[in-house]
Amino acid sequence: MNRYELRARRLVVGTETAPLGDGDGSGSDGVVVRVVGTTIQYAGPAAAAPTPGGDPFTVVELGEATLMPGLIDCHAHPIPHADVPELGPEHTRDGVRVTHGLDEMTRALQHGITTFRDCGAPRYTGLALRQASESGLVHGPRLVVAGRVLCPTGGHAHGGGGEVDGVDGMLVGARQQFKEGVNFIKVTATGGGTQGTVRHRATFTVPELAAAVEIARQNDSYVTAHAHATEGIVRCLDAGVTMLEHATFVTEDGREHLDKDVLLRIRDQGVTVCPTVAVHGRWLDEHEDQVDAMDDDGRALYERRRDSFRRRLDLVAELHNAGVRVLMGSDGGKGRNYPAALDDLAYSLALHVRVGIPAADVLRSATSDAADAIGLGGTVGRLVAGLEADLIAVDGDPLTDITAVARPALVMQRGVVVRQDGA
Ligand SMILES: [Zn+2]
Repeated sequence: MNRYELRARRLVVGTETAPLGDGDGSGSDGVVVRVVGTTIQYAGPAAAAPTPGGDPFTVVELGEATLMPGLIDCHAHPIPHADVPELGPEHTRDGVRVTHGLDEMTRALQHGITTFRDCGAPRYTGLALRQASESGLVHGPRLVVAGRVLCPTGGHAHGGGGEVDGVDGMLVGARQQFKEGVNFIKVTATGGGTQGTVRHRATFTVPELAAAVEIARQNDSYVTAHAHATEGIVRCLDAGVTMLEHATFVTEDGREHLDKDVLLRIRDQGVTVCPTVAVHGRWLDEHEDQVDAMDDDGRALYERRRDSFRRRLDLVAELHNAGVRVLMGSDGGKGRNYPAALDDLAYSLALHVRVGIPAADVLRSATSDAADAIGLGGTVGRLVAGLEADLIAVDGDPLTDITAVARPALVMQRGVVVRQDGA
């Protein structure tokens, strides 16, 4: 059985506002996390650690690093909905999609993302990905899956095979999903990137959404809704949906306009939001110095994306300042429909800090708050005794420099070291 003693400078438990180990009275001995099998046995100041018993521990010296919980990406698409041209000119077969998703996820694990919430994958592929990862066939990240995205006929993400219409259609569709073993229900309450859909329009009716909420409740689960249009956000609130993806408050002009009354309803109903701010952010950075050379269409696209990106960043700050629980989601995947990378969640954290959210809150949104929100609060998300050892050691102090999260020197998942630089 694995027995590790990880020694580092600081510890971010996942719930606090200041790290342990720097000026916390624990002296200069730093911090220690002991892992036995897949479980954290002790996490805290080295000076307070109990005398180890049993077989000796494998000691890993991490110097000035900070130990913290592994990152949780609450909105990802490891499996592409559309064909992936990089995988060849033929239609991408579902088995190949799953293999590809495993490859993408195991690469992301190297960047410290130890849990993904898969917010929708075509047909059975999300469930297959979870089985392959959790059976140990591949040592991949932990996965929580939505299965197929439930949408109205022709709605956003309809290529995944989850079209349902009417209250009865939704009841059957949601029940079928839980029968197959999904962890939660994802619906598209507005249009989105899928051709033929309109971002600023609601799609499902309130009774349809409420039917999904009822079936999720019967299964001790929840519904989260892809929602851009303010009109769709309001319908979700009316239907009792408890989580929103994107929540960009798009109105008739196709742009993001915060509606303060709706924001207060989100807060007062205790709705959690996963805003996916990174969308197009890297693309904008990469194209910034090429704008002058662009043709009119190119420049218009650049400006539209830049405007949307800035407005979405502002919205995240508004949500946080209003007291809404905000999660971290990349909306990452591969293929032309995925405007962010799966292995780059650190960038999303940096964006949340850029708009003024305190780093401690940002770290919680990607660890303990995320785990609580997706049903893993008793399993991962904090470095405390008894939880599973999904953790990372990062170079520096993420509470003073959030970019430290992008520099994992060690990644441990289920008690197994899957990355150790310099070892
Ligand atoms: Zn998405």
